[in-house]
Amino acid sequence: MIRIIYASSATVEFTESKLMQLLGKARQNNGELDVSGLLLYAKGNFFQILEGDEQKVDVLFNKIEQDDRHGSVVVLDRAEISKRAFPNWSMGFRNLESFDKSQIRGYNDFLDRKLTAEEFGDIGDEVISLINQFRTI
Ligand code: FAD
Repeated sequence: MIRIIYASSATVEFTESKLMQLLGKARQNNGELDVSGLLLYAKGNFFQILEGDEQKVDVLFNKIEQDDRHGSVVVLDRAEISKRAFPNWSMGFRNLESFDKSQIRGYNDFLDRKLTAEEFGDIGDEVISLINQFRTI
């Protein structure tokens, strides 16, 4: 198994209902592929972890990457794993805008504004740590 963690930037406005629509499709597809993970959203930035069979995750990621509802897709981590961090979630979701900032460890200004692809490249460790706060195991 592998995991891929990436950051990306929305190219269209994502209302709550658009996010829910995206999530519904993701959960359906991921369930069929036995891919699990988590999607985080804040201020037009997406952070996602996808985990599962290597070939399935790679094929799915290639499809997601080509979705023109987001751009500036930057892979922050791609690694072999022996255990899933989100075994129970075909795709968990947190809209970080609805959190009290003090509840999020290491809350950084990168969650307050839309970032560029170059900036995504500099915050890999922070994003991994952020994702880990929502682990289910
Ligand atoms: P269909 O649902 O038939 O979609 C066909 C095409 O229409 C796709 O190319 C898609 O880009 C586009 N499309 C679909 N819905 C909309 C819409 N509401 N508005 C505009 N265009 C649309 N998919 C997953 O399966 N798993 C994931 O974990 C996942 N995570 C994502 C994370 C982000 C940040 C984004 C932006 C998308 C994500 N997607 C995910 C969606 C993915 O990119 C594809 O849209 C989806 O997998 C296509 O599903 P489908 O093959 O059943 O095609």
